[in-house]
Amino acid sequence: GCGICVHKCPFGAITIVNLPEQLDEDCVHRYGINAFVLYRLPVVKDGMVVGILGPNGTGKTTAVKILSGQLIPNLCGDNEEWDNVIKTFRGNELQNYFERLKNGEIKPVVKPQYVDLIPKAVKGKVRDLLKRADESGRLDEVARELELENILDRDIRQLSGGELQRVAIAAALLRDAHFYFFDEPSSYLDIRQRLRIAKTIRKLADSGKAVLTVEHDLAILDYMSDIIHVVYGKPGAYGIFSQPKSTRNGINEFLRGYLRDENVRFRPFEISFTKKSERKSQEGEILVQYPSLVKEYENGSFRLEAEGGELYVGEVVGIVGPNGIGKTTFVKMLAGVEKPTEGEVDWSLTVSYKPQYIKTDYEGTVFDLLSKIDAAKLMSNFYKTELLNPLGIPELYDRQVNELSGGELQRVAITACLLRDADLYLLDEPSAHLDVEQRLAVSKAIRSLMAKNEKTALIVEHDVMMVDYLSDRLIVFEGEPGKHGRALPPMGMRDGMNRFLANIGITFRRDPDTGRPRANKEGSVKDREQKEMGEYYYTA
Ligand code: ADP
Ligand code: ADP
Ligand code: MG
Repeated sequence: GCGICVHKCPFGAITIVNLPEQLDEDCVHRYGINAFVLYRLPVVKDGMVVGILGPNGTGKTTAVKILSGQLIPNLCGDNEEWDNVIKTFRGNELQNYFERLKNGEIKPVVKPQYVDLIPKAVKGKVRDLLKRADESGRLDEVARELELENILDRDIRQLSGGELQRVAIAAALLRDAHFYFFDEPSSYLDIRQRLRIAKTIRKLADSGKAVLTVEHDLAILDYMSDIIHVVYGKPGAYGIFSQPKSTRNGINEFLRGYLRDENVRFRPFEISFTKKSERKSQEGEILVQYPSLVKEYENGSFRLEAEGGELYVGEVVGIVGPNGIGKTTFVKMLAGVEKPTEGEVDWSLTVSYKPQYIKTDYEGTVFDLLSKIDAAKLMSNFYKTELLNPLGIPELYDRQVNELSGGELQRVAITACLLRDADLYLLDEPSAHLDVEQRLAVSKAIRSLMAKNEKTALIVEHDVMMVDYLSDRLIVFEGEPGKHGRALPPMGMRDGMNRFLANIGITFRRDPDTGRPRANKEGSVKDREQKEMGEYYYTA
């Protein structure tokens, strides 16, 4: 064995992985010479939600292809038979599973990662799509649970990202299968919707089905899973599935960068969520006093009232609230993209804006695109250390922008936004399509650039862990989604999180070991206690 291997992790830092001994025996699939290698597999258990936590490019989809019978693993040789796979997994929990798979006794269903691609593959009305999927006769029930009743007669092409996501999840739930795989079910959903689909997926397991899920929102993964596997390795080169772990331990070990049972350190530093002292920025220099704004769209169907407020130099303000409440509309008005119906944004501030949905019509490489924005910064050690290396951008320089994956494009768009000179940075849902390490790298980069360059950022975000990690203060949006919204002035984290979570009736506690936010189960002792005290967030 190689003992200790040192390689560059995609975010610039050196990652030390001491590979477990006898790894070769556990080699499951190799795509080719010098191609990606997968070691070990997750367990599949009836009646359980098994969560998978790990970076993109470490073989999660490959594992699912194997478990759903689409790919016979070559066992890192020239194997082409399920019988050999069954032999190899003798004594393992998967042996019986592979026997059933070989005999055609396992019917798998997969909810794909990129729901945006569905309208290209499927035409027609939502109701018809779901009817075709409905093998269990539960269309009405599932439509109600996922709040799809109002869009059943819409054409699939007209759906927003969050609607497409829920339709895709519903279509998977309606199938009558043995093994269900949900690949990133929370993308595009707000926190209330995320918890709702998490409950629905749990119910599926409670009815005896085997469920596997990949999820990068740690609060949701935590809420949904019975056990988890951490996947580690080198994205694009190899991936190793850990032993199954209890959900809490697995997530904590992941944040620490150290797997105890395996005795493997896969990241040289820990990620911790120490309570930030309530921000002192209110004592600092005011960047701008922004005015109250109103936006009514021409069709008169939606009205946003945003109260004015002040922003401080050096701070990061999180923007939170349900989907369809006007967050993007607000940010667009500040960016000068959308004109307010009442009030005026007439400041001399320069603004840099990353939209929620990123267009890809640029012809050229990543390097071309970024060097047009600021070639000098690409060469500067400061930006290499603070932004480019942590986000894994140099590895993408030679790639064509219009051929990037969703997560790669997101990282390039965030980088482009942060490279521009501006007083105020507006980023709308930067975590979409990013894995946990990337979310944390982005959060860190934003915080440190704002502090060191004395700039200000507003970030629209649904991932509670990221909001917690990023924000000094919060702007909370309330109202009735799709009808009217109200933006409150910026407030401190404690008040802001309390207000935001009280609106949706969810409480969070902090994990005593890592300080990460964990959603309480509804009606649990902690949930009731915290609600009584009005402390939806900060109690330990
Ligand atoms: P994840 O789901 O964790 O993002 P995947 O299983 O999709 O990871 O991919 C892991 C690695 O295997 C990636 O580097 C990917 O490019 C590579 N890969 C996937 N499919 C193939 C294939 N058919 N041939 C060669 N390499 C592949
Ligand atoms: P959020 O970002 O909070 O999800 P948005 O600001 O995107 O919310 O949208 C708020 C509401 O305004 C939604 O009901 C949306 O359909 C509607 N809306 C957004 N843009 C337009 C537009 N250009 N014309 C008409 N309605 C719009
Ligand atoms: Mg939005």
